Amino acid sequence: MSKRDYYDVLGVAKGASADEIKKAYRKKAKELHPDRNADNPDAENQFKEANEAYDVLKDAEKKASYDRFGHAAFEGGMGGGGGRPGGPGGNPDFASAFSDVFDDLFGDMMGGRQGGRQRATRGADLRYNLRITLEDAFNGMAKTINVPTSVQCNVCDGSGSEGGSEPTTCPTCSGMGKVRATQGFFTVERTCPTCSGMGQIIKNPCNNCGGAGRVQKERALSVNIPAGVETGTRIRLAGEGEAGMRGGPPGDLYIFIEVEPHKIFEREASELHCRVPVSMATAALGGDIEVPTIDGGRSRVKIPAGSQSGRQMRLRGKGMPALRGGASGDMFIELAVETPVNLTSRQKELLQEFEDLSEDNNPESKSFFSSVRNFWDSMKG
Ligand SMILES: [Zn+2]
Ligand SMILES: [Zn+2]
Repeated sequence: MSKRDYYDVLGVAKGASADEIKKAYRKKAKELHPDRNADNPDAENQFKEANEAYDVLKDAEKKASYDRFGHAAFEGGMGGGGGRPGGPGGNPDFASAFSDVFDDLFGDMMGGRQGGRQRATRGADLRYNLRITLEDAFNGMAKTINVPTSVQCNVCDGSGSEGGSEPTTCPTCSGMGKVRATQGFFTVERTCPTCSGMGQIIKNPCNNCGGAGRVQKERALSVNIPAGVETGTRIRLAGEGEAGMRGGPPGDLYIFIEVEPHKIFEREASELHCRVPVSMATAALGGDIEVPTIDGGRSRVKIPAGSQSGRQMRLRGKGMPALRGGASGDMFIELAVETPVNLTSRQKELLQEFEDLSEDNNPESKSFFSSVRNFWDSMKG
């Protein structure tokens, strides 16, 4: 049987980064965990295969040789641990080898394997979506949010038992929190079904929390939203996530910012863009206009004579503040020259006069326009 390509084994592309390789391996290891593969006799070999592939690909030197020579790089005594066929029956210590890998990979996540019972577990991280206005993003703000989370039950002080009765040692696992079972070549360690890994059972569960020791509660948190945040900004509040289990540390709370679309301004990073209507006369003659700014004020802008629709003008420093310090962005206005409507007869007269004068001014355009007129006349005719 020919050996499978290491990259295929882990399911990553040839050019995968060390990080991607590690992630892919973690995923495989999770999938192949003996707890999940009681019915899959091939899991062990698949795990060995993944292990071998990871062993090579995580090591820059071995990876480079493998990239150049393929499996041949590790044949003929070059080492690397490849090539040994997994004998039938496999390694009797597979499950414990697996435990080691898991400790290595997920140790902090799962709270470690030592201790058995009463393992402290870190509380879950929480995500909170916060929609704010562009003005709030500009100014920054202090906001009180109500976060649903679980907190220690104050009736039983987190013990989970009613009236202060002491929890007793679980009879199923003798307090270990785990039970061992043999399934084929796997010796599987499972979380004890009686006590859910606590090692203790509660005879009289607390009425308030049902024995969990934690209750769901809304917690009011005051959050400081710094000026300059944008959609996608994450604010981490360390230790404000869910309470840990059995004395474990709490998780973190992540606030995900979403900035609402604005009536006037469009934002691109720290720049603000807006369209400003200008009368035809102002665009032609030039003049001052006032434009609204995000700070709630107004800025005067000089429109040069002869400005066309679409002309951009920059207002330096009138954009959004930079989140991590530094200069504010700029604001850009784009002129939209408005064609006057609902004219009085006097205005029409003046515009007609203006038009006639324009043609006199510019014989070239006169000949152009008269040729267009002739064209249309001929179409109507
Ligand atoms: Zn138990
Ligand atoms: Zn309670």
